[in-house]
Amino acid sequence: MTTTLHLHGKRGVELLHDPLLNKGTAFGESERDLLGLRGLLPPRIATQEQQLERVLENYRRKENDLEKYIYLISLQERNEALFYRLVMEHLSEMMPIIYTPTVGLACQKYGHIFRRPRGLYISKNDQGRVKGILQNWPQADVRIIVITDGERILGLGDLGANGMGIPVGKLSLYTACAGIDPSQCLPIMLDVGTNNSALLADPLYLGLPEPRLRGPEYDALVAEFVSAAQQVFPKACIQFEDFGNANAFRLLHHYRDRACTFNDDIQGTAGVTLAGLISSERLTGLPLTQQKFLFLGAGEAGIGIGDLIVEALKLSGVPEKKAREQCWFVDSKGLVVKSRSDLVEHKRRFAHDHKPVASLLEAVEALKPTALIGVSGMPQTFTEDVVKAMARLNRRPVIFALSNPTSKAECTAVQCYTWTEGRGIFASGSPFSPVNYLGVTHQPGQGNNSYIFPGVGLGVIASEARRVTDEMFYVAARQLATMVTEEDLMVGRIYPDLKRIREVSAKIAVQVAEVAFQRNLTNMLRPANLEAHVKEAMFDPHYPSYV
Ligand code: NAD
Repeated sequence: MTTTLHLHGKRGVELLHDPLLNKGTAFGESERDLLGLRGLLPPRIATQEQQLERVLENYRRKENDLEKYIYLISLQERNEALFYRLVMEHLSEMMPIIYTPTVGLACQKYGHIFRRPRGLYISKNDQGRVKGILQNWPQADVRIIVITDGERILGLGDLGANGMGIPVGKLSLYTACAGIDPSQCLPIMLDVGTNNSALLADPLYLGLPEPRLRGPEYDALVAEFVSAAQQVFPKACIQFEDFGNANAFRLLHHYRDRACTFNDDIQGTAGVTLAGLISSERLTGLPLTQQKFLFLGAGEAGIGIGDLIVEALKLSGVPEKKAREQCWFVDSKGLVVKSRSDLVEHKRRFAHDHKPVASLLEAVEALKPTALIGVSGMPQTFTEDVVKAMARLNRRPVIFALSNPTSKAECTAVQCYTWTEGRGIFASGSPFSPVNYLGVTHQPGQGNNSYIFPGVGLGVIASEARRVTDEMFYVAARQLATMVTEEDLMVGRIYPDLKRIREVSAKIAVQVAEVAFQRNLTNMLRPANLEAHVKEAMFDPHYPSYV
């Protein structure tokens, strides 16, 4: 039983206005007497289930997705426990609202739908006072920080300070999918300006109406933030999210051995894609070591996936050079080969000896890949010719069209199953409905990062790990793949049902924590029962009793 001590002395209206403590009409008779609430609430006491019924009815009455988003955010601002119970019990329905694709729309209109601030804002004018800003945050035990500078929001480009919707949404998923306590989550917007001319001209835009900060001053601001975060929240993991391509790779490279940090666009995407490839082995009969991977797109997602495949192959005994040679990339200029002089650093490590090849179709014919992975943001680039070539070369071709949102997918699920005569193993970034092809129903898999990052975060928290390593994403991918059932595979689905996400996240967390203990990445002693320790740390959205 919880005591009033947990309320930090809060009572009356102050208690009703604290979303982490508020229970609204569910405060009981004695709580109302003891906590100065009598008369501040309607007399009839509700159960949380009755409240759920009301909020669900209100939610479903909203006429469009943006209104649903606004409704959910307002609920979160009033009553976090109720918000999380609602979202957790209707995750498939609400995930596309609190995260992609609706969150993208909300970010585009952020300055126009803004009600009240959430999270912290650090701007380029705050150089020298970042620590003080972090100290203004009301919670002391922050464990996960999600920070963005808004330069590459989903597939929508530079949205400046409007990008705040992303850290907020991502952290909601940490709680909904892995039970990370909302009081331990901190969303941050690093406002370094924007180069989006429409936003610069919008009088309701809430960020600094200035061009983006670049160069040493930008790096100094990020460095000040990381150092301040390590001082103010020494147990926090910092997740960099939706930074532009060049900064994302640089910052990950610079901080991964200096702080407890990771980049979900690079490493989380890699984890969920690797899991899909591992599950596919059970359908193709081909181990990863015997496969060849061809990527369309060599950005954060593509290179991240390539690096993790290399890590996985190395752990299976393949030498690094050979492992890299199993991964090939086509970017906007054609096949990534050694003779090209235009390659940035992160692409060079996958540039192999080969004559230049201009098109994806030619690359497929020349390289004969077993898997084709689309992370280009370019719709309809897996053409009929390309997919049919994959189907000719492979008994079960692996075709992942991961670009988001749905309109950007390299091909649709229907196209994949039709052009491969039902033999394709398909996964996408955004959800596709089941497809009936010649009387057989195929369930496309969704390579949703939410299968990976919440569990990784929970594992890092539960083990108090000082670093987040590629090995952690590898074990997370392996664990996720083992949770795919024979029933899932029978309908062609290479990821577990989203309904099992908390169970999935808990299991991933145990594996991730195990890596932290084995690799001496923590000062914590390994609990005898790690699984129980992880589960104990998970947030329960049912109301506690305060008396
Ligand atoms: P990015 O900007 O870092 O990289 C895009 C890459 O695509 C670049 O290498 C670019 O050269 C290449 N490209 C552009 N036009 C091309 C063309 N016509 N042909 C071939 N290559 C081309 O972006 P990113 O973060 O890597 O994301 C890429 C896509 O992957 C986005 O649509 C994003 O939504 C999607 N994504 C999906 C998931 C997921 O499914 N879980 C996760 C992350 C990203």
